[in-house]
Amino acid sequence: MGRKQDVKKRLVWLAAMLLLAGAVYARFKAEADRGAPAEPAASGIITETATGPEAPAPANHAPSSELAIRVAADQVHKGNLLLVNETLAVPPNDADDEAVNLFQHRELVNGFGLLDNKIRLSPAMTAKFADMIKEAAKDGVDHFLISSGYRNDAEQEALYEQLGPDIAAVPGHSEHSLGLALDIGSTKAQMKDAPEGKWLKANAWKYGFIARYPEDKTAVTGVIDEPWHFRYVGLPHSAIMHDNHWAFEEYLDALKARQSMTETVGNDAYAVYYYPVSADTTLRVPATGSYELSGNNTDGVIVTVMKS
Ligand SMILES: [Zn+2]
Repeated sequence: MGRKQDVKKRLVWLAAMLLLAGAVYARFKAEADRGAPAEPAASGIITETATGPEAPAPANHAPSSELAIRVAADQVHKGNLLLVNETLAVPPNDADDEAVNLFQHRELVNGFGLLDNKIRLSPAMTAKFADMIKEAAKDGVDHFLISSGYRNDAEQEALYEQLGPDIAAVPGHSEHSLGLALDIGSTKAQMKDAPEGKWLKANAWKYGFIARYPEDKTAVTGVIDEPWHFRYVGLPHSAIMHDNHWAFEEYLDALKARQSMTETVGNDAYAVYYYPVSADTTLRVPATGSYELSGNNTDGVIVTVMKS
């Protein structure tokens, strides 16, 4: 083999080795590129950082200016703000168990009379009424009597048969069956003319009661003027209705539209919130203080917060 041939052989070998090296590099590069899309390890790291212990706490952990209130779906049909009328029925409730015969519980009958010996009402509602008329007595108005309190469906049925649809509600649609309504009379005159009727019309709202069927709201309530029928809703709701001259139906509609309202009664500041509720849920209320819950008997829950 000549020297020239030897050199030529070496060059060929070198060229072959270079080609091989190039091929290996190309293959390696191709694999590396294919591997690239699996690399979003980078985004995984970012996610980990965001949820890691160094990450800032999510906003809903922090504020102490919020009430988180767990409510069950049936809360919609419980409470002092249940609307009952011709279209909305009385939901199942405990009023029958809570009502007592006032004629047999004379210790509850303070400062007023009873129309008959069958009248039943809960001790709690009787006490609220007694507290209210104690204030009336200070104004010299003290001839009150209770003419009807709690009525179950059978009692409402009997009344409906006796008085007819213009005067009595259809059984299952009377506020009296909620245990939150009472008919109040005067031993002096008809309520429309009696000092007792006039005093209640002007002052009942201060004690959580509303004249439920006033003469100028018959188109809204669908019920004739009943100056004797009062419904307990509690403060500040009775005050809000009084200030805005709203019937109960109008108040609940307005609250639903606005979602929240505030009211001050004396030294007490209140905030009222409406939330639609259709299942068990947690309400996050932007307020602090003691609170009460009530359904509206249709589609939501009202949270009443006493701020001070
Ligand atoms: Zn009534």
